Amino acid sequence: FRERKLIVHIIPFENRRQILVTHDVTESERIDMMRRDFIANASHELRTPLTVINGFLEIASMQTDENVSIMSSHLKLMVEQGQRMQRLVEDMLTLSRLESAEFQVRSETIDMQMMLKHIVQEAQALSAGKHQIALDFSGPNIQGSSDEIRSAISNLVTNAVRYTPEGGSITVAWHAGEKGPKLSVQDTGIGISSEHISRLTERFYRVDKSRSRETQGTGLGLAIVKHVLLRHNAQLVIESTPGVGSKFCVQFPVSRLIES
Ligand code: ADP
Repeated sequence: FRERKLIVHIIPFENRRQILVTHDVTESERIDMMRRDFIANASHELRTPLTVINGFLEIASMQTDENVSIMSSHLKLMVEQGQRMQRLVEDMLTLSRLESAEFQVRSETIDMQMMLKHIVQEAQALSAGKHQIALDFSGPNIQGSSDEIRSAISNLVTNAVRYTPEGGSITVAWHAGEKGPKLSVQDTGIGISSEHISRLTERFYRVDKSRSRETQGTGLGLAIVKHVLLRHNAQLVIESTPGVGSKFCVQFPVSRLIES
């Protein structure tokens, strides 16, 4: 309970002063509730794929040779659900590692051009030619955890591909600015209405649950982005218009620049 606050009350009593030490129960209760919610959400998300896998495994074990084709479609479903579960578990682990205070941010020089080129190439592979994906690069290198920054930017770019219909375009931009280097990921996708924007970085918050499942999302991508940016003192600003597209901007502080 390292988050729990100690409250010290000094109470005058019969000309003596007594000290009463209590815990801030409301704060620790709130944290407990968030933890419980997280576990409840996580196990809820894990239950469906597990049920499908176990159900089909049971059927598969009873199949005879004549039913080979049914078997193979069941096996395909099992593999898909297994992969989904794997992604969920990986993201849950990443998130809990990011949350742990003992785990300090590494400070290494990040070659931004190389990193962004890789991310754009991966996005092109995911898009399979269905979108135009461009990189507009002119900014400096920064200092931070290369793995964490890669995972945050990659989440934003992957989302841009997943939430942009075929024929749309995505631009990843990296520029220097007076306030520090700035990344933006802009798409011409489905957009997000304003009432959802402030909640997008909550775990498992989705505007449209069924669409996110179809696009293979875990519901944890933007929560990971939020934690990585917090750890790097960077800020996320989201602008979006339904039916027109979205822009996710990350403002890094000047202190992240490499000293030359
Ligand atoms: P998911 O795995 O569901 O995509 P995320 O945490 O990455 O989870 O995103 C949370 C939600 O934010 C998504 O379910 C989606 O509704 C919305 N979202 C994220 N990025 C975009 C985008 N570029 N365009 C439209 N909606 C988006």
